[in-house]
Amino acid sequence: MIQSAFLLGIVIFGTCLFGIYTRPLDFLANVWPANAVMLGLLLRFPTTATPLGWIAATAGFILADLMTGSPWGKALILTGANLAGIGGAYAVLRLYSREAIRLQTPESVPQLVSAIGFGACLAGFVGAVANPVLFGGSAVGGWAFWFVTEFANYVAILPVILTIRLFSFPQGISLKRLAYLALPLLALLFSCFASFEIGGPGALAFPVPALLWAAIVYPRFVTILLTSAFSFWSLIALSADLFNYMAGASAENALISMRLGVSLITLAPLMLASAMAKQKDLIAQLSHLARHDPLSCLLNRRAFGEEAQKLARYCAKQSHPYSALMLDIDHFKSINDRFGHATGDQVISIAAEKISSCLRSADIIGRVGGEEFAILLPKCTREQALEIAERIRRAFAQAQVTPDNRAPISVTVSVGLAASHDGSADVEALMEEADKALYRAKHLGRNRSEIHDQTPGWRPA
Ligand code: GH3
Ligand code: MG
Ligand code: MG
Repeated sequence: MIQSAFLLGIVIFGTCLFGIYTRPLDFLANVWPANAVMLGLLLRFPTTATPLGWIAATAGFILADLMTGSPWGKALILTGANLAGIGGAYAVLRLYSREAIRLQTPESVPQLVSAIGFGACLAGFVGAVANPVLFGGSAVGGWAFWFVTEFANYVAILPVILTIRLFSFPQGISLKRLAYLALPLLALLFSCFASFEIGGPGALAFPVPALLWAAIVYPRFVTILLTSAFSFWSLIALSADLFNYMAGASAENALISMRLGVSLITLAPLMLASAMAKQKDLIAQLSHLARHDPLSCLLNRRAFGEEAQKLARYCAKQSHPYSALMLDIDHFKSINDRFGHATGDQVISIAAEKISSCLRSADIIGRVGGEEFAILLPKCTREQALEIAERIRRAFAQAQVTPDNRAPISVTVSVGLAASHDGSADVEALMEEADKALYRAKHLGRNRSEIHDQTPGWRPA
């Protein structure tokens, strides 16, 4: 505990010195990593987040200022602003989950912005007091300047500290893949070079598409590192006026720079949209694979269960009747035994098509076992369901199944049926009842339809 606090104090002292030495004369530092570093350490290493840690860090802030020639008053005010910002952001970030803080959720970035925005706002209030006292400026100007400086520094540095981890370079990588991986980095370096060379009001935007390309191609942490480097580079370039914002640029050059900047910003969302479209396609394919059985192309057991629940809820809401069928191919094992497993597979796939062709478009069907199919019939009474069950059964009994390169095979099916007359039944219970009826159909000799809770062989008058 004491060790952690001491280390925190030393780190803050060191990062303050770095900030002070890159600070333009008598003005706020453009690159001030100390606050983001402290906030990051408090969050990543909770042993530093103790009263002792805060005291050590405060000492680090004040000592760095005093040692570099600031008077006590200035050192205290600046430290007050720093601590107010860190404290505010820390208090908000603690409300969020560990995953959010590690930037692993879609809400992470807005949540991070809310926290550092709040912290920067508090630091701004100290700035509103300090600006007139220390630098002879206005209170509003002090607030705005402090807010933006704090905000920019948190954005540049905090994500790296929150996500830093050991990164291993991929092994055994092909030359083509290496080139693919190198391109966004090269594009980034080239666009940074171009903004430096061309300068002017659009210069800052030049690297935006390259950064986005990096975000699409690289792992998250590499992207965060590159983005942070870009942010640092821009802050330094701006403070040294490397882009000739303030001085010198001719009107023609400014126009060139602006047009280039605007067109590169436009490219960025286009790039993101096309990457997202590809991603969405892949997700749609994956979700189709996860929900369908590859042999029959019908819904698998889990997906059928989900869809059946939805359909049953709809029927219950509308007080529509609905019915469930369980269907099983008779003596399927003997088909496998006589003709082989591959032919058995084909019979399952042909059977799936045959059953589906007897259904209406609103009905749903799933392959819920090897040669077992479940069917849900919305807006369908017991009598109508029995008609459909019989239609399916007859379709098998009256026409043989012909697998590729085989003589036709006789296949029959047995069907169990259960119905909910007002849609209020629990769909799982109804499927179980249909399953019981199916067992009875098997017992009574197969190639028949049976209804749950009816005398065997019951048919409507
Ligand atoms: P019953 O009339 O009582 O339903 O008899 P059955 O032979 O159809 O039923 P049983 O449950 O004894 O056997 C089902 C067989 O289905 C056993 C299993 O090897 C086979 N099977 C399950 N899944 C597949 C599959 O994907 N492809 C093939 N070819 N056979 C399968
Ligand atoms: Mg069977
Ligand atoms: Mg079976």
